[in-house]
Amino acid sequence: MAWPYEFLTQRPYSVTKPEQHRLFDEPAPWEADEAEQVLVATVVFPTGAPREYDYAVPAALAEAVQIGRRVRVPLGRSDRAAIAWCVGVEFRSSGGRRLKEVREVVDTRGLLSPAMLRLSRWMADYYLCEWGQVLEAIVPASVRDQSGTRLMTLLAVPTKVAARLAELKLPKKQLQILRALAASPEPLTPTQLAHLAHSTTGPITTLRRKGLIEAHTERLRYLEPVEAPIAAEADHTLNADQQRALTAIREALDSGLHSTVLLHGITGSGKTEVYIQAIQHVVSFGRQAIVLVPEISLTPQTRQRFRARFGRVAVLHSHLSDAERHWHWERIARGEIDVVVGARSAIFAPVPQLGLIVLDEEHESSFKQATAPRYHARDVALRRAADERVPLVLGSATPSLETWQRACQGEYRLVELPGRALERPLPDVLTVDLRHDTAPAGRAGAISRQLLMAMQGALNEGGQVILLLNRRGFSTHIQCPACGEVVRCPHCAIALTHHRHARVALCHYCDYEMPPPMECPACHAPGILYRGLGTQRLEDEVRVRFPDHACLRMDTDTMQEHGSHERALAAFREGQVKILMGTQMIAKGLDFPNVTLVGVINADTALHLPDFRAAERTFQLIVQVAGRTGRGDRGGRVIVQTFNPDHPAVRAAVRHDYAAFAEHELPIRESLGYPPFGAMARLVVRGPVEAVANQFAEHLAERLRQALAASEVDARLLGPAPAPIAKLRGKYRFQLQLQSADAGRLHQALVEATTGLKPPDHVQWIVDIDPLEML
Ligand code: ADP
Ligand code: ZN
Repeated sequence: MAWPYEFLTQRPYSVTKPEQHRLFDEPAPWEADEAEQVLVATVVFPTGAPREYDYAVPAALAEAVQIGRRVRVPLGRSDRAAIAWCVGVEFRSSGGRRLKEVREVVDTRGLLSPAMLRLSRWMADYYLCEWGQVLEAIVPASVRDQSGTRLMTLLAVPTKVAARLAELKLPKKQLQILRALAASPEPLTPTQLAHLAHSTTGPITTLRRKGLIEAHTERLRYLEPVEAPIAAEADHTLNADQQRALTAIREALDSGLHSTVLLHGITGSGKTEVYIQAIQHVVSFGRQAIVLVPEISLTPQTRQRFRARFGRVAVLHSHLSDAERHWHWERIARGEIDVVVGARSAIFAPVPQLGLIVLDEEHESSFKQATAPRYHARDVALRRAADERVPLVLGSATPSLETWQRACQGEYRLVELPGRALERPLPDVLTVDLRHDTAPAGRAGAISRQLLMAMQGALNEGGQVILLLNRRGFSTHIQCPACGEVVRCPHCAIALTHHRHARVALCHYCDYEMPPPMECPACHAPGILYRGLGTQRLEDEVRVRFPDHACLRMDTDTMQEHGSHERALAAFREGQVKILMGTQMIAKGLDFPNVTLVGVINADTALHLPDFRAAERTFQLIVQVAGRTGRGDRGGRVIVQTFNPDHPAVRAAVRHDYAAFAEHELPIRESLGYPPFGAMARLVVRGPVEAVANQFAEHLAERLRQALAASEVDARLLGPAPAPIAKLRGKYRFQLQLQSADAGRLHQALVEATTGLKPPDHVQWIVDIDPLEML
């Protein structure tokens, strides 16, 4: 019979030897007088109890209570049992105080290395969130619950009994069972043994009672995930640019110090190949690497590529089962994995000897978590790399301006990869000026004449087409159909949002408002429009215009079902689908050699979102989506429809000119104090009663003003104003925004203003440090 279980290394405490229980012969805390030392565990709760609490450790648990394990403790007046994370253990004077006692140790193994504990502490401080909440984010639920394992009873024949097996006088069945067990090379569960001996479990129980079979419990894995093997691939010989990049990273690695390298390389320039060869170096001296990529479930190619190059890879993606996630985590923690590839949360991979962190597509907003703890994986990576004294490599074709600015100032080492690895030229990017198109997108449809012709051309030649409709959010900006002018806030350089019901045009940063104009403020043409178009409408139009070509829409509405991404992308790759359309979801990291045309339906929607990063996002989007074509040997074209062909971000994107974009955008950021020239925090208050939520937001603003004044920090406090999404799931939302060049003091003021803050019933508030999402 095959042995289907893998033994985990740790044993549960039920098998701890009894003599260990009295290692520390301390009196119980209530017996100790003031001068005496007691063992105290400091714990934090996952949620709801923001500070740290001390508990006395009874002598019986002195060994089991350790930092990084969870314990069960009495909480509150009713002493209900609650699970908490142990973050400190030390002998200290009881100070005459009587502490409650730890009741039980939950974990049989440590879940946090000292480095991860430090990282979690830093995150809680920096992001102003509960430490326990950070710990629960760092250690996945599947690991805490030991998914895929079960406590099992294992049977063996004691050596003394085995030696005298022949002399034993027993009923035939029992003897048969005993022989079968003695012959087994491994301990067996009662069920396995019964099966093997063609018996019921009854006689086994009898043998256990007689002491002829001994039993102990162990935690066993009942499901061993299997990964299909994959053919190994050889290294590419690096070109000169790649070689320079690799040398820079190897120098950083060999220095034994922390430093950050920015690989600025266009899509297809061979960045991934550089990462792989740098990681080979890391692995060669016995350390591990973490590679963070955005939305890995969407990029099966990246997964395959790492698996083809490294033997011991763990790929963490959102579609893993709990048992699989736990299994990977255990292997990573035991040092059985060399390379961890995963999305945002893979930054918490428990590798024992970190050697390198790589963050690919570092500009991606999916590295920021939208719920508490609202961390940005890039900033956490920077912190972890610095703490563990290893290099961090950031890679992007369109780096965030935060990263770019640091590279320009020499804080990061900048390495450029200006050409495509396979010498394929970048695709031509063409703009279609919607102001002059005979069929304005607002009325007749979303597809301009030029784009329509290009689509027909591409499809007739057997190529495939991607259409990108950047419909983020709901908000409608106000735009002149004649000159393209968008109505903006005079104080914030941000597009005003039209609120149809209230009949106002509102700035979502500072609450400036004006009546919606009847004519264009710039050219005075009448008939100003609200812009807004959905993917659904685009799909209808494509089906009408191309009835003979299969098309597929990919957005969060159509892609909810498990595995739907993979199926959709496979259908497109295999050519069953000719036209793929969707939101940004399709702009990322995909590599389809047969795509010869990419159409961007509305570059402007991103441009006019109420967000100071609007221009940056537009630039990134156009450049990234352009990188999706021209990958095969058939070349490719990109058509960008826009009302703003002269906008500097659009013009720079069309020329694939990152430096020009940064040169134009950075001074704007600087003049307004936006990142990277100032730190920012956003606070959102929400509640079911508008006036109550608003009032609390005002109260919060007042506390912030006082704290800012007290610490004499030069800061800008905006709001409270209704959030761009002013009502969400029945709750009214108000926002406050803080900006300051002095990040440290801004943080201090935030801590002061929010410590002990008590919102009224049903009102919640959140704080988002370095926010990316302004809706
Ligand atoms: P990036 O990560 O910058 O988008 P990749 O590493 O994916 O670029 O490289 C793009 C393509 O070029 C891939 O198909 C890769 O296999 C290939 N490639 C990369 N480096 C080389 C090289 N030195 N020689 C030949 N092909 C290469
Ligand atoms: Zn404003």
